[in-house]
Amino acid sequence: MSALLELDGVEAAYGPVQALFGVSLSLAEGEVLALMGRNGMGKTTTIRTICRMLPHLRGQVRFAGRDLAGVPLHRAAQMGLGLVPEGRRCFGPLTVAENLIVAARPGDWTLPRVTEFFPRLGERLGQAAQTLSGGEQQMLAIGRALLTNPRLLILDEATEGLAPVVRQEIWAAVGRLKAQGMSILIVDKALADLRGIADRAVILERGRDVWTGSMETLGGDEATRFLGV
Ligand code: ATP
Repeated sequence: MSALLELDGVEAAYGPVQALFGVSLSLAEGEVLALMGRNGMGKTTTIRTICRMLPHLRGQVRFAGRDLAGVPLHRAAQMGLGLVPEGRRCFGPLTVAENLIVAARPGDWTLPRVTEFFPRLGERLGQAAQTLSGGEQQMLAIGRALLTNPRLLILDEATEGLAPVVRQEIWAAVGRLKAQGMSILIVDKALADLRGIADRAVILERGRDVWTGSMETLGGDEATRFLGV
């Protein structure tokens, strides 16, 4: 089966500062892949290159059979890359409904389906996004990405800064998306939670992939060596 997303030897830089030195990974349709690594190892940068916020210098990024080199940022979402960015980035003064529909594209995910998926959003459609709790804002960020009807959902630190009980709500939502067949790339530090949801993991160290395998084969040695846990 051909991969939905495939990175091969990707290198990227912020001006003169190189951050990725060769990242390769692949994600099959319907798979949940965890992208892991300690702080500053290149996880967010990898996501930025996938979503075309940062052009790559060398290597290949392929999505749904297309080479993404030269694809501009605004085309990435149209092609089916649905990013839930680090820090959630909701439009605070806009209402929940406005936040949800701002980037909506036709498809199976409609406003009623999103509010059925996250009932708490449905109860707050007219409320300004900045008045939501952290967990609700995260649901809003995920709901907004779902309404773009992505082929791949990318979650960058979706549970960061949330209370444990709220984190579990977000993980449960991700689990329901997985059960519905969604392809998902997750960056998160919560190894124990990822074990319950990801099929495979890729670990980055200093801008390179240094370990790839199924979640079951990610043992204590790798966790200590590469993740510091
Ligand atoms: P974290 O877990 O802390 O979010 P990360 O694995 O996502 O870390 P990146 O944010 O991708 O790591 O950072 C990779 C490297 O690129 C780091 O050395 C970082 O300092 C550098 N970097 C990230 N963003 C920029 C930027 N806008 N300008 C210059 N360097 C950057």
